[in-house]
Amino acid sequence: MSNASTLPHFSQERIVQANAALDGAPPFTILQWAVDAFFPKLTMGTAFGPEGNCIIHMLAQINPRVRIFNLETGYQFKETLELREQIKDRYGIEVEYIYPETTVAEYEAEHGGPLYEHRPDQCCHDRKVLPLRRAAVGYDAWISAIRKDQTKDRGQAGVVQWDAKFGLVKINPLLNWTKKDVWTFIAKHDVPYNPLHDQNYPSIGCWPCTRPVSDGEDERSGRWAGQVKKECGLHVIEHNDGSGI
Ligand code: SF4
Repeated sequence: MSNASTLPHFSQERIVQANAALDGAPPFTILQWAVDAFFPKLTMGTAFGPEGNCIIHMLAQINPRVRIFNLETGYQFKETLELREQIKDRYGIEVEYIYPETTVAEYEAEHGGPLYEHRPDQCCHDRKVLPLRRAAVGYDAWISAIRKDQTKDRGQAGVVQWDAKFGLVKINPLLNWTKKDVWTFIAKHDVPYNPLHDQNYPSIGCWPCTRPVSDGEDERSGRWAGQVKKECGLHVIEHNDGSGI
């Protein structure tokens, strides 16, 4: 099966060229390019992490009409939901909730209890991946907030790459930023952030699958702690030669 881009107006060759031209560029420049190349068929998913909030801050200046969504699994922390309201007040950007097909109560009744305990991949698939697929229909490109230094897999990503899983061009404007770069930007521009970060939660997802970390632990070690799983399935990294990892 070919993983090459199927966008008629944005070939695999253009993706490779854009990635080469933008690798190392400032995030604002990468976002400006993405808006020029794809808006209005450009979207962004966010879990309101510090990286995503930096991007929202920049998009508010570049084009606040870029559609931004959050996968509201029904298992998010109340602090995360409150942050959406703060973002709305600060930037006038209303992040759209994308819901799974069933409520938490319906889902747990259907499966005889929560799946996150023993089948988290299935739970993430049903409550994140499938809703993202629906949210992506009609779009050509999506923005993500991953950083290269977060995981080994993310270290293989490109600033601009083809995302075969969702059939979109994927733009990773903060790929080359460090955690320090993110928090420096937040402090400098007073960007809203989740208060749980001040309570030893460096990476925040759904509450059942997130715990605080101890000093010296990897920043994503609090996600699906005790399990091999480290991604929810949204960020499958593709090399720009079309091979996935
Ligand atoms: S992070 Fe946990 S609760 Fe959230 S969708 Fe995945 S398995 Fe379910």
